[in-house]
Amino acid sequence: MTLEELIKKAEDTGFSHVGPVNMDALEFLPAVRDMCADGKCGAYNKKWSCPPACGTLEECAEKVKGYTAGILVQTTAELEDSFDFEGMAEAGKKHGQLFMQLHKELTDVGEKCYFMGTGGCTLCKECTYPDAPCRHPEIMVSSMEANGLLVSDVCQKSGLPYYYGKDTLTYTAMVLI
Ligand code: SF4
Repeated sequence: MTLEELIKKAEDTGFSHVGPVNMDALEFLPAVRDMCADGKCGAYNKKWSCPPACGTLEECAEKVKGYTAGILVQTTAELEDSFDFEGMAEAGKKHGQLFMQLHKELTDVGEKCYFMGTGGCTLCKECTYPDAPCRHPEIMVSSMEANGLLVSDVCQKSGLPYYYGKDTLTYTAMVLI
């Protein structure tokens, strides 16, 4: 699949914004790991998709070697105001569904892609970590942040906005080919 075909496929899936990722912007940063370790999102050391279980920064960097291009996909929510938590949750759910749909369509046709999603894995009601292996390793995806990427920086260096204005919220994920 060419980059242009991947962009078209992601646009057809229904994301708000799609654009090529600047591969030079993929820096695996200890500072992002430190943010994960703060535990604000509640997933650190609680899921197979998240640090420390998702691997060291060196291992994350190693996994993307061999991928030469990719795209950023975004879902932007128009919120009623900055307290519209329902709108934020709805957009997060929609973004996750679109990303899983894209993941399925690409893997179904045998495309060898590397996926980085948004937030901790929510496939199971309760993650098996650390007592038993992941239930769905074939479709489980770690987030860009879990991989040590500063999402706003990757967007900016790729020429794609990270922020679309007052009372909007944007979720970003990535697919490499
Ligand atoms: S698929 Fe289930 S077991 Fe695996 S990381 Fe996600 S929530 Fe945890």
